[in-house]
Amino acid sequence: MASKKSSAVKSKPARAARVKQAVKPASRRTVLPAPITPAEARTQLRELAMNLWWSWNEVARRPFAALDPVVWNATKHSPLATLAYAGEATLSAACEEPGFRLALADARAALAAEMSRETWWDREKRAANPKACIAYFCSEYATHESIQQYSGGLGVLAGDHLKSASDLGIPLVAVGLYYRHGYYIQQFAEDGSTKVLYPVYDRATLPISDTGHVIECPVGASTVRARILRMDVGRTRVFLLDADLPENAPEDRLLTEGLYKGEPHLRMRQQVLLGVGGMMALRTLGIEPTRIHLNEGHAAFAALEMLAEFRASGLSHQSAVLRVRAAGVFTTHTPVAAGHDRYGVDMVVAGLARTLAKGGISREELESLGREKPADVQEPICMTVLCLRLASRVNGVAKLHGEVSRDMWRGAYGVKKAKEVPIGHVTNGVHVGSWLDPRAAAFWKHECGIDAYASTPRNRAWRKAASADPAAFWAMRGMLRASVVRFARERLVRAATRRGDAPMAVEEFAGILDPNALTIGFARRFATYKRAPLVFTDVERLARIVGDEKRPVQFVFAGKAHPRDTGGQAYARKVFEMTRHPLLRGRVVLIEEYDMEVGRALVSGCDVWLNNPIRPHEASGTSGMKCPMHGGINCSILDGWWPEGFDGKNGWAIGDAKDAGFSEADAHGAGEARDLRDAESLYRLLEKQIVPDFYERGRDGLPKKWIRRALASASGIPDFFSTHRMVGDYAELYTG
Ligand SMILES: *Cc1c(COP(=O)(O)O)cnc(C)c1O
Repeated sequence: MASKKSSAVKSKPARAARVKQAVKPASRRTVLPAPITPAEARTQLRELAMNLWWSWNEVARRPFAALDPVVWNATKHSPLATLAYAGEATLSAACEEPGFRLALADARAALAAEMSRETWWDREKRAANPKACIAYFCSEYATHESIQQYSGGLGVLAGDHLKSASDLGIPLVAVGLYYRHGYYIQQFAEDGSTKVLYPVYDRATLPISDTGHVIECPVGASTVRARILRMDVGRTRVFLLDADLPENAPEDRLLTEGLYKGEPHLRMRQQVLLGVGGMMALRTLGIEPTRIHLNEGHAAFAALEMLAEFRASGLSHQSAVLRVRAAGVFTTHTPVAAGHDRYGVDMVVAGLARTLAKGGISREELESLGREKPADVQEPICMTVLCLRLASRVNGVAKLHGEVSRDMWRGAYGVKKAKEVPIGHVTNGVHVGSWLDPRAAAFWKHECGIDAYASTPRNRAWRKAASADPAAFWAMRGMLRASVVRFARERLVRAATRRGDAPMAVEEFAGILDPNALTIGFARRFATYKRAPLVFTDVERLARIVGDEKRPVQFVFAGKAHPRDTGGQAYARKVFEMTRHPLLRGRVVLIEEYDMEVGRALVSGCDVWLNNPIRPHEASGTSGMKCPMHGGINCSILDGWWPEGFDGKNGWAIGDAKDAGFSEADAHGAGEARDLRDAESLYRLLEKQIVPDFYERGRDGLPKKWIRRALASASGIPDFFSTHRMVGDYAELYTG
């Protein structure tokens, strides 16, 4: 796959590329790394494992995969678990292997080079902002599939934010909670109903250490002790609070039992621990943030704790509010009303009693900060309103979501016109290094000279994807599609054997799907507004599309509903039933247990990524951003990020592009008519464009039109819709 174009990049390598090159030629080294004892190897592997840098740098995963490939796969690619299960014999044998020693030495050298290199922040921002320190608060972080501390898109975005902050060198520390049970594990019963399992994780096999510090956080009448745990994500430190200590009362230990698990009262108290406890933890560690970034309203109490501190130091209410606002950055993540936590005033006053007392903050002052209309005695305290009042920089997560948010929060600002509402937008992105399949990265590098891992906010090299060799590109697509087919078979067989399905059914799963057929993916939380079953609106019409012998189409679904979301679980069940429908059987599959690994497999292998939420309920959505870097194409409602991403040539838009309006009544009242309209539009796209374009082959066997669209998608989307660009945008809010 050598190309004329790669020389252009070699002559002017980005810094990150230089670092990689300084490390990579190790495979061409003539001198092998020195012998190493098993004990030394264990120490070195443990050091590597304790920094999650491995989660987005394949070079640092290689020694673990080499140590024991079977255990590596069985532990969801957990370095520490792989190491824990490696006995002395395994380790001794590995140390005899030159390949293993080389992989270990390379990984260590790469991590050391990474930690000492000059970053974008060092070059561009540090001199003007020597003291900058951003404290980023979020209720969930998705960093890797072996660390199940996330439920979906919010956590994935936060995890990707941390990784990009590390790559760019942004001085950011993150604050969160450590959940003993994480989020739930999903299984489907024989009838497609969801089974909810809460495993207990062994923290010894997680790359999370104990700082030895304990805070005492006032939560209502209790003093909750929480230890401060630490997780290193490259350069970014993440501090997680764990209240599961024997000295706490049983109900207080529940505060960090599970993610989004409890009743509103428990949820509110969890948020006291996150916000108030999180600020206390930073103080305990001697960290002085210059900005606090509240990622979603869950973290609002961090700003309230800061307010109480300023008040306690003698500032007036107004001056203290101004000081907090000067530090506050707030990102709102949903236009769905139910997605904004609201708690009765009494509940909040009780939960924050000692914080309010410390700052001498009155009930009226709290109401004025947390209510849209402070004098409305019926109105509860809204976490989002608190954030709007206590942060001077507020943003939605896509251009359209910014507009919707301005309209939505007019009341909170007491203005009539949306344009008077000071909410902007920073469009979300994805962390390329975490989502890009290493085989695709090698393809772009060799074929087009694109360094997908460049550590700068923008990576305009992606433009060169447009000129990739069509035949080589199509071969890469075939390889990635074959991988997702293999992945699906393996997962389906695993689920079927666990359920005890009949042998014939298991056998069918082992050979299901066609690695050459047009493959359409849909994977995300099964929240109802995302409308997972939309494509099944007219089963017979769909059956004609997928069942065409000459032009077969197949769908791979995955998703997880919140354990209390019966509507979402009903959607999961509907999809499950459709996989068994006689007209669709074999062409529609549903993968059990949606997590980052499943997501990665699907976004890399699927030809088309389907996204059909109720507009404009998808604030951004990020799964679709993970496909173009693999040559996949989006077919989406013009919602969330897609109105910014779609240019008419790099994908497909479902529905009427002019349908821009939004009202709650519309979202619910006119639901069925809208669903029918959107389904009709989707079927027409499939029948008239998507399927014909995929199967229309030239004499060289290549689908020319398809490849042109896929390369337009790859050249135009990954640069802008990356968290490197996003974090670069936030850097302005962090310093300006
Ligand atoms: C990317 C990703 C998401 C986000 O999906 P959207 O619905 O497109 O926002 C959720 N969960 C996982 C595991 C992901 O990888």
